[in-house]
Amino acid sequence: MTDDHAVVLAGRTLPMLDRARMYVCGITPYDVTHLGHAATFVWADALGRVLRLLGVEPEVCRNVTDVDDVLDAAASRARAPYDTFAAIQQYHFEHDLASLNVRPPRHEPRAHRYIEHVIRLAQGLLEVGRAYEAKGSVYFRGQAAAAQAGLDRGEVLRLSAEYGGRPDDPAKEDPLDAAVWQAAETGHPAWDSPWGPGRPGWHAECVAMALSAFGVGVDVHAGGSDLRFPHHAYHSAMAEAFTGVRPYARAWLHVGMVAIGGVKMAKSVGNLVLVEDLLARYTAATVRLMILDRRWADDWDYGDACLEGAAVRLADLYQAAGRSHEASRHGAAEIRRLLAADLNVPAALEVAVETGGAPARLLMATLGLD
Ligand SMILES: [Zn+2]
Repeated sequence: MTDDHAVVLAGRTLPMLDRARMYVCGITPYDVTHLGHAATFVWADALGRVLRLLGVEPEVCRNVTDVDDVLDAAASRARAPYDTFAAIQQYHFEHDLASLNVRPPRHEPRAHRYIEHVIRLAQGLLEVGRAYEAKGSVYFRGQAAAAQAGLDRGEVLRLSAEYGGRPDDPAKEDPLDAAVWQAAETGHPAWDSPWGPGRPGWHAECVAMALSAFGVGVDVHAGGSDLRFPHHAYHSAMAEAFTGVRPYARAWLHVGMVAIGGVKMAKSVGNLVLVEDLLARYTAATVRLMILDRRWADDWDYGDACLEGAAVRLADLYQAAGRSHEASRHGAAEIRRLLAADLNVPAALEVAVETGGAPARLLMATLGLD
């Protein structure tokens, strides 16, 4: 017997009843939405839509990291308070995602409202001996999380430094430890805590927001594959150490990176393709199909030909959807099966275009292409 309510992610079958808890690592609102962000959020949206097709209601929590060192620097360059600056950027982000037909999440927690939660998280980690206090900061012992990632120590330290983990912080017992609570510094907001004034660490903010929304764990945690380490490795390690429940996530949706000429799209590189520019030239459905007509974990290279190709594929799908077809029941079941099997959009699209009629319309509606 096949399980109608199971989805396969990264080769792993996840049986579901009627509800799925999905945490999506949201943005740090300091800059415009680019195609790299869009790819992650469109894929998370597609997973939610496929779950709904399978009769499972996705309960999505997409956080806003509005307490962040990079954001503080951007706000100070703009001579704006961090929270006002973040709120304006957040508005633009939500507008871009709505234009891309991404459904709004049920929960959208903002980090600055979770300071008390992070303090409780830090206290809990101190109590079980998985964290220690030093010079007004609380650090999570990171050795196990780093070892579990299967990376060598050099790579771990490089990634930790790249993502603001400050491996060279002299207050740490081990460079692999991560701040749950960071002692106050000039240029950053600060709140009172049992260890003196300070601010929450990045991974700890997400843990606090995820556990507050969902309790001890989630069915799926989604984010760009660049968040795999250190962010998600430390997130799950902290959550498991705090709750004693593992695994924190039943599955991960680590969406592939978008590159241009082989170079990952990033603000620091300056090769951003903005969502609003794409939507000025193509429909949301075309941009969505360009993102989704591939395997979600694959990295890919963006070029204008990608959009042209997606526009042609979409026209084929629309044309097929206009045909009436007798044997549409089999086609619909096949599309459902392919989408449940690791979100195999390219194969489902082939079936839809070939079969036409109701199955093609089902695919359009499921992927938000109508
Ligand atoms: Zn996160």
